[in-house]
Amino acid sequence: MLKENLDNVMANIKASCEKSGRDVDEVTLIAVSKTKPLSDIEELMTYGVKEYGENKVQELCDKYENVSSPVNWHLIGHLQTNKVKYIVDKACLIHSVDSVHLASEIEKQAEKKGVIANILIQVNIAHEDTKFGIDENNIYEIIDEIKNFEHIKVKGLMTIAPFVENPEDNREYFRKMHQLLLDIKSKNIDNTDMSILSMGMTNDYMVAIEEGATMVRVGTGIFGERNYNI
Ligand SMILES: *Cc1c(COP(=O)(O)O)cnc(C)c1O
Repeated sequence: MLKENLDNVMANIKASCEKSGRDVDEVTLIAVSKTKPLSDIEELMTYGVKEYGENKVQELCDKYENVSSPVNWHLIGHLQTNKVKYIVDKACLIHSVDSVHLASEIEKQAEKKGVIANILIQVNIAHEDTKFGIDENNIYEIIDEIKNFEHIKVKGLMTIAPFVENPEDNREYFRKMHQLLLDIKSKNIDNTDMSILSMGMTNDYMVAIEEGATMVRVGTGIFGERNYNI
């Protein structure tokens, strides 16, 4: 089942790239493995999947320790400052930075461990009360502070679009995110390369790719439904 699902997602990514005149190499698939067993990850690894997303620090650390050969771990969920120390040297990219306060803790822990932390700024582009992320109107204020941190590289932006029946309803948000990324990029800010735009989940990754996503985070579409009760 995993292989079929993966093939299906890869085919959709290809189709979306073709439709929008993009090169398929511009889009990285992150398999969101939260709540799923290591055996699923091990199987996907045999199909060449190297990027995995987790939303909980503890789960990322457990899987990091136990996987049979190294893969890239993406922290995609909300990050509390008191947990930064556990993942700063394990996550290849932290997608969910939404305050200078959190970034300064990442800076502190990255310096301690002697690493450079790659981060994305999470933007709450639809201004949903239920979602984390900054208001896009505050982005320059935040980047202006983070750019001074020597152990952090701002690689781009991330958003979690609203849950909608029709993915077309999120197109405007994805478009806004892409425009924001281009605006920031054009300013050539220190330590800020804006090469990554992380947006699109199972329900809407095809639209996200058409609007410029360079990373899509797909869980259910690969692993099937999650069961939070086990
Ligand atoms: C769970 C999760 C995903 C994947 O969601 P699916 O709808 O299962 O593809 C993507 N991004 C974040 C931040 C998540 O927490």
